[in-house]
Amino acid sequence: MKNIVIVGGGVAGTITANYLAMKLREEIREKNVSITLISDREKQLYEPGLLYLIFNRMEESEILKDVKYLLDPLIELKIARATKIDAEKSRVELENGEVVNYDYLVIATGSRVAPEEMPGLVDGGHWFYNLDGAKRLREELARFKKGKVVVSVMGIPHKCPVAPIEVTFMLHEFFKIHGVRKDVELLYTYPINRVFTMEEVSDLVQKMFDERGINYKTFFNPVSIDPEKKVIETLEGEEEPYDLLIAIPPHKGSQVIIDSGLGDRDGWVPTDRYTLKAEGLENVYVVGDATNLPVSKAGSVAHFEAEVVAENIAAEIKGLPPTARYFGKAMCFIETGFSEATYIWFDYETPPKFVKPNKFIHWMKLAYNRMYWLTARGML
Ligand SMILES: Cc1cc2nc3c(=O)[nH]c(=O)nc-3n(C[C@H](O)[C@H](O)[C@H](O)COP(=O)(O)OP(=O)(O)OC[C@H]3O[C@@H](n4cnc5c(N)ncnc54)[C@H](O)[C@@H]3O)c2cc1C
Repeated sequence: MKNIVIVGGGVAGTITANYLAMKLREEIREKNVSITLISDREKQLYEPGLLYLIFNRMEESEILKDVKYLLDPLIELKIARATKIDAEKSRVELENGEVVNYDYLVIATGSRVAPEEMPGLVDGGHWFYNLDGAKRLREELARFKKGKVVVSVMGIPHKCPVAPIEVTFMLHEFFKIHGVRKDVELLYTYPINRVFTMEEVSDLVQKMFDERGINYKTFFNPVSIDPEKKVIETLEGEEEPYDLLIAIPPHKGSQVIIDSGLGDRDGWVPTDRYTLKAEGLENVYVVGDATNLPVSKAGSVAHFEAEVVAENIAAEIKGLPPTARYFGKAMCFIETGFSEATYIWFDYETPPKFVKPNKFIHWMKLAYNRMYWLTARGML
């Protein structure tokens, strides 16, 4: 019997598990293979929905689903936090004392926001990168009618590189719809020398910010927030006042990665960019946000990576050569307001390509928001 264990019940974990179940159906039925998914949460959160929840355009019930419901019935689900991954003994320890042995391990523990890493942010700012933060921001936005809003990216990497740009465009339109745009100053800040990591995207976004009267500052690296004075203090020595701060907080990998000594300082797992194996570990794969790869921390990346990992593990089990490779494929929609969107796709070799923002792509994104649950189940 070969045991495949997947840690993490997010996008990467559920898609990998479902693809494996599809490819190894007979082997599982004949009890030659088992697939176990370990998730510390009963429900999966569709994070792109948070961008709409803050404007009250999607509800909590639409973006949460039971992990059990998303998994093929051939997969065993354990709801518990993994506290240690022991790669030498090929086993995972759970917080309830249980030990799960594996022949193949898939690390799909994602990334998490760490607002506590930025002094003053918890008391002085808002964020929408997790459910609690997004719900608090929804209340604040409903009240906000006048003043200065700062959207500040407080470190790279973070989930969904384009979400800070999308939220800025959406804020512009939100305040316009509510007739208060002239009373609201919008400022977007980014840590490097342009408004986005990729030059092609940066040029287009900068032009669109200019057209909409959205201000921006680059080389802007916050080091602390003063909640009393409502000021962001930066490494560059600036003091930027705000009335409403919407932060993209610093991100980290899962604590279990740090505690198991499998990651770098921030908890990202060193991963082979083509095979997606954890460096130095033949039977351990990494999918989704948990890797240290220079690709976007995005659901689409998790999806494309899951295909490669599932194909190779299934091939090895069937005694076939594991020839699938990941070439950095990524695809991201970019909302440019509430009625138009564009998208970019790229890979390790190909820079991003654009189409002009239009209504059709916006509708496609809205449709995908509903169809995502089919993706998680391995059906799309
Ligand atoms: C506001 C926002 C908008 C976004 N928009 C888009 C978009 O439009 N398109 C796109 O492609 N991506 C988007 N993303 C990014 C996307 O949501 C993430 O990249 C994706 O969720 C990563 O999937 P993952 O499975 O690697 O991690 P996650 O979805 O974070 O899942 C990891 C899971 O592992 C669990 N876990 C962690 N540690 C343990 C442990 N020790 N034991 C057991 N379980 C554990 C976690 O609780 C979690 O359930 C967006 C993200 C945000 C925040």
